Order: sequence, then C-alpha cells, then structure tokens
Amino acid sequence: MAKIGINIATGSLQQSEMIVGIDLGTTNSLVAIIHPESKKPIALKEHDSSSLVPSVVHFDALENAIVGELAKTFLETDPANTIFSAKRLMGKSYNDIKQNASFFTYKVIDNNDDSLVKVQVGQQFYSPIDLSSFILKELKSRAEHILKTPVTKAVITVPAYFNDAQRQATRDAGKLAGLDVLRIVNEPTAAALAYGLGLEKDADKTIAVYDLGGGTFDISILKITNGIFEVLSTNGDTYLGGDDFDRAIVKYWMNEIGMADTDLQASKELSQGLRLRAEEAKKHLSIHDVFSVDFNGDKLSITKNTFEELIQPFIEKTLKCCVNALQDAGLKATDIETVVMVGGSTRVPAVKNAVSSLFNQPVHDEVNPDEVVALGAAVQADILAGNNKEFLLLDITPLSLGIETMGGLMDVLIPRNSKIPTKVGRQYTTQKDGQSGMRIAVYQGERDLVKDNRKLAEFNLSGIPGMPAGLPKVEVSFLINADGILMVTAKELRSGIEQSIEVKPQYGLTDAEVERMLLESITHAKDDIAIRALVEARTEGEQILDVTEKFLVKNGSLVTKEEMMATAQAMQALQLALTMDNKNLIQTKIEELNEITRPFAERAMDAAVGEALKGKNI
Ligand code: AMP
Repeated sequence: MAKIGINIATGSLQQSEMIVGIDLGTTNSLVAIIHPESKKPIALKEHDSSSLVPSVVHFDALENAIVGELAKTFLETDPANTIFSAKRLMGKSYNDIKQNASFFTYKVIDNNDDSLVKVQVGQQFYSPIDLSSFILKELKSRAEHILKTPVTKAVITVPAYFNDAQRQATRDAGKLAGLDVLRIVNEPTAAALAYGLGLEKDADKTIAVYDLGGGTFDISILKITNGIFEVLSTNGDTYLGGDDFDRAIVKYWMNEIGMADTDLQASKELSQGLRLRAEEAKKHLSIHDVFSVDFNGDKLSITKNTFEELIQPFIEKTLKCCVNALQDAGLKATDIETVVMVGGSTRVPAVKNAVSSLFNQPVHDEVNPDEVVALGAAVQADILAGNNKEFLLLDITPLSLGIETMGGLMDVLIPRNSKIPTKVGRQYTTQKDGQSGMRIAVYQGERDLVKDNRKLAEFNLSGIPGMPAGLPKVEVSFLINADGILMVTAKELRSGIEQSIEVKPQYGLTDAEVERMLLESITHAKDDIAIRALVEARTEGEQILDVTEKFLVKNGSLVTKEEMMATAQAMQALQLALTMDNKNLIQTKIEELNEITRPFAERAMDAAVGEALKGKNI
C-alpha cells in the first residue's frame, strides 16, 4: 500500500492546490479551507454574505438548475420544480422513504420497489446523486471564485449512520461535480477535528457530538484512540429540528390572534410570512428576553419563557435519544469527557443548558455551530494534503477496489484512501432461476465501468444449490491486511459454500499509473456516470419486464382484456426503449408500465390476503 507521502510524490496531490472541506447538509451546505497563512480553518464566503448555501435546487422553465439562496425563494411559489432535502433520498429506494413521502412537495417516483429513488421534474428524471452534484458544483465554483484557483479535490462529510450505498452515492455526486473525493468523513468526526480533538497524540477520549439542525437531530458517541475515530453508537430523529421550533411559535401566535388553520392554508404569503417571523423571533430569543413585531396589523410577541416552554417537548425528545445512544455504547453520561455542539439550533440557550446538565459539564460551543463540520472537513483535507506531518504515515489504499456487477458496472467495496487494515462485506444475489455459479471478478480503479479499470483476479463460486433468482445470499468480503494483501472471499450464506482468492493490488503498478487512473476518472466522470445511470435504468427495465411477465402467467385471471392489451403495449414500448441509449426514455416507459400494472398488482395482493384469511379461524 502507498503512504500518503508517496501520493504526493506522484504529483497527484500538488502542494499548491487547495483541498477543500465540504459539509453537504440537508438544509445548508458550505465549503471551508485551511487558511494558507494563519493555518486555521475558515469557511469560504463572498464578502459579507453568509457562508451557508441552502441545499435547494430549483429548475427553471428551461430546466437549468439554480442552487442556493435564489432557489430557496421558489420553495413556496414553485414547489414541484424546487428540490430540497435531497440528502434524505441519498442511497434510498422508494420503499425506504414511503412513510415520509408526504414530506416531499416535489414528485418522487413511486415504483414500489427497491431500486434507487428518482425525482421527476418536467420531462427529466434526476437521481439524488444528480441533485447533490448540482449543490456540490455550486460550492466548487463558489470556492474557485473566492480562491481564484481551480478546485478539484475535496473531503466531503456524511452522517455517521450513512451506509455504504449512501457513502458511495455521495462520492459519485462529488465525481459528477468534477471533484476528486479524497475521503468521506463522518460529520461528528469532522466536528471533533474542528475542536482539535484527536489531533493530540496518545490522547484517548470518549466524546459526544450533539447535532441539532433545521430538520434533523443526531447524537453520536465517539471514541478517539491515537487519532483514530471509532463510532460507538448513533441515535437521533431524522424529522426533528429548528423547523419544529418555528412551527410551535406559529401555532402559538395563531392561537393568540385567533387565526384558523384554514386561513393559513388559503394564503401562501400569510403562512410563509408567519414562518419567517417565527424564525426571526426564535433567533432573537437566543439573546434577548422578548420579541415583538407588527404583522398585517396584528402585534405578534413572545417571551423567552413561553418559547422555552413551547420547545420543551422537542428538547426532551433529543435527551431521550442521547440516553439511548449512551446505553447502546454501554456508557454512562459521566463517561463522556467532552461534548461538542453542532447545528444552528444549538444556539438556543435552553438546548445548550439541557445538554450540559445531562452530561454534567459545560459543552463546547465556541466554534460557529453552522460551520463546525465544514471546518473539520478542511482540517481532514489538510492532513490528506500532507501538511500535518503527525498524520503522514497512515497506510491507505491509493485506488478503489471492487467487483463487477450487472451490466459491467464497478461496485466499489473499499474506496480509495481507506485506511488499512480494513474489512468490508456486501451481499449479492443471483439473476437467474436455478443459477448454480457466480463469477466474482475483482477490479481496481475509479471508473464506473469495469472495462476501464484494472482487473486483478477472477474466480467462480460454484455449487450454489438450485433456488429462484434473488434468493441465494452471496456475501463477498474484501480484507486488506497490514501488508496490503487483499483477500477476497465469496460465501453463499444459505448453503455455506465458500471460495476465496488472494491478490496483491499494488503488484506491478507504478505511481505514474496510479496517477493516470485517478486523472482519467475525473476527466471521464460525466460520461461514466451517464453510462452507469443508463445501465442501471436498463437493468431495472429488464427486471420489471421479467416480473410483469411472471405476474401475468400466475395471475392472468385477475386482469381484464383491456388491461392485458395495455400492459402488452407498455411492455413492448419499454422493450424498444431498452434498445436505445436514452435513460430518460427508459424511465418514462418504466413509469408508464408501472401506472398500468399498479391497480392489478394491488388486486392480486388483496386476493392473496383473502385466500390466506379464508383458511383461518378468527
Ligand atoms: P443547520 O441545519 O445546522 O444549518 O441549522 C439551521 C437551523 O438553525 C434552522 O432551524 C435555524 O433557524 C436555526 N438557527 C440558526 N441560527 C439560530 C439562532 N441564533 N438561534 C436559534 N436557532 C438558530
């Protein structure tokens, strides 16, 4: 494995080039760097504007993407074309989010299956990766404008609970925005780094990071040993934050001035106006005791005491999550040595006091809570740039390692720049009924199609017992030991059959080749991701055709003649679309077929439930 220092020698990290830290947030995003002279992290902003870029993407009539403050102004006036909270959709299927579907005021495609969600705006379909890439592009160009130099390398933060798919989606979004994502860092880890925690040598510490933003709450318990961060537990509520405080104030005022819900529903200006005044009141009450304002002839006022009473239930909820997180980590509140506050809503004194009394100590709130994660990402970026000598000798993987999946796609198991030793496992399944073997082809590189990467090894897991497609569970695990040897194992979990192979990923690979492979992944990012999206749409289309066909054979009696005709036509149209290189067309045809089959799929479900009930004595 390469040392980070060797990476610098390849020229892939030019010392003059700035590596930025990016906090890609649910509500707001921002970019930070280590100031070349002061060596301190700073958030980038244009003159006296805010460093925060609202994570909102608006599509205008020509389907141009507008990001940030301007996009935010369309949230209420043009909700169908204005996408917020795309981060909540990262790496998710519709089934994952359907309980909260009403939260999204734009069209999230309901395909009732486990493929990744898409958002429809006009005739275009966007993945959460596309949407996040628009935000990252905006941050990149903002940084370039301020720094007056190209920015191509970044560290991006994600919540500690993000799974592999969500982390990969974030990497892809970066790549699509023209950024080489050197590392994905957990948000609580970044916040700790911004406070200098984990930077002192030999300091073992257990810390809590309390993150209350606009719409989400996270608590993470971390253990830091010799500069290595381990997440002991996480807890939280993905629909709890400062927005709830604003709504509580709005409700209180409506009650005071005798306004009904229907008045609010009738006027967007009225509801938006009230919400904005409520947020203003909340911020004012973080430093003053009373707030009042004239609004449409009414005097709206609220005291700090009333506000604190209103938000007490929300604060209690967060404390409960903290207790659960401590329990999961097997710790008591008194075991926590440091508490770090993150997110704009931790500016509320009642929140600070509650957290401080739970952990029985003063909390760290000196760094701007909106910026602290991005600042920490910049600290991590600086370490990767080799500017922090203490951390220079960490062993890392210089290129990503993965296997080939359907359509010749590269599925990364160990992303580049991962620390070694490391072990990662992921489950796969068969595509065909009765399939008895599975080819495992191991590749190295950053491109989306395996044909553009470097093949390391291939073997066959044979002897899988005959099962319907999708039923076998094949766990592929990658283990890199401290010497950099990669061991790939494939195991079918139901039958226990297993096969493995050992490779030396760096064997015969020069530094110049590593650099070339990295460069190519950036120059081809756009095409690569477009091809990946096309291959994924095709795979989804093929699967849907397959499922529909099987369904008709089994449940033909439940379908009317007209429905049968319409289905056949839609299937034909999809089949034709699959032969063309047009992802949007394939997705449109999938959606049309789904529209037609949804009612009889539901009928079949009802029939099945009826059958099951018939045989039972209730
Ligand atoms: P974040 O998601 O971390 O950007 O946090 C945004 C949330 O913090 C929003 O709900 C803001 O209204 C809230 N916020 C920002 N400043 C303050 C403040 N001074 N007092 C209370 N809440 C604030």
